[in-house]
Amino acid sequence: MPQILKKISLILAVFILLPICTACRNTQNSSEYSSVEIFAMDTVISIKAYGKNAEKALDAATAEIHRIEKLFSTTDSESEIYRLNTEKTLTLSDEVADLLALSLDISNQTNGAFDISVYPLVTLYGFTKGEYRVPKQSELENALEYVGYKKISVQKSKVNLLSGASVDLGAIAKGYCGDRVAEVLKQNGVFSAVISIGGNVRLLGNKPYADGYTIAIRNPSGDGYIGSVTVSDCSVVTSGAYQRYFEIDGVKYHHIIDPKTGLCADSGILSATVICENGAVADALSTAFFVAGKESAEEFCRKHPEVCAVLVDKTNNIFLIGNVDFTP
Ligand code: AMP
Ligand code: MG
Repeated sequence: MPQILKKISLILAVFILLPICTACRNTQNSSEYSSVEIFAMDTVISIKAYGKNAEKALDAATAEIHRIEKLFSTTDSESEIYRLNTEKTLTLSDEVADLLALSLDISNQTNGAFDISVYPLVTLYGFTKGEYRVPKQSELENALEYVGYKKISVQKSKVNLLSGASVDLGAIAKGYCGDRVAEVLKQNGVFSAVISIGGNVRLLGNKPYADGYTIAIRNPSGDGYIGSVTVSDCSVVTSGAYQRYFEIDGVKYHHIIDPKTGLCADSGILSATVICENGAVADALSTAFFVAGKESAEEFCRKHPEVCAVLVDKTNNIFLIGNVDFTP
């Protein structure tokens, strides 16, 4: 390449790459708070943190997010989950084994509506690679042979995937990540924070000079919001049909699968928001309630008063379950 062309391409590269890099990590500092926005775990993550050393705390939080992303990825050949799916028997770190054990516990308690073994079905629809297609009934039946949380055996940290099963922690890992980020921020002196990971919000402490944080809930079948909840020191996690879907011949296929049929879950609920302290639990339950529907969610929350929910159905009816501070 002639020297002049080389120079021009170098200048162009600098001008094109510079804004992309600054957009990756835009740390804004004021006397009150620091904030950061990064792309990880296949979504945009934003954190706003209050405290003297908030900026340093955000660096630690960013490192923690990347650590967790690496731990639970189904596509990174170095991740424990990737190795487990390939080798089928593996001794995992306590951290990954604990999240698998919690997942199985929630599967048991939700009658299998939440099931991390749906991975072969998620892959069939092309959600893992973004190559969307509608599977044939015979393909679904074949994939269902490998699905069922009872095929996963966790004994301390030794995990066995029976009958060719595989796992995907996509419906719980973001909630867990929110909890870990909140913990890391707290250890670094942050007293209040909002951590937003896609549809997952984790709050640390209370909003300074306010009665709580106001978290808006999206309208699942149109623009705008259906209302908001006012909360503090807890997780607010939404599973919604609008979050990831493709459309073929006028039919929408979304990313939350009914593990019993292999079809996109169709309980009549278009978005399920769960509010409780533990983010991993809130994340898993929002997926479960989306799959299982209103009556099952009500039954679960009756047994677990620490869990509240806001469900929205296909005709935009809003159902408040438990003690929710909701403003339409
Ligand atoms: P979420 O957005 O938390 O509801 O999680 C949805 C993601 O979890 C999907 O993109 C799939 O990877 C996976 N998934 C889909 N259906 C289920 C299910 N019934 N139980 C557990 N994970 C699921
Ligand atoms: Mg979830």
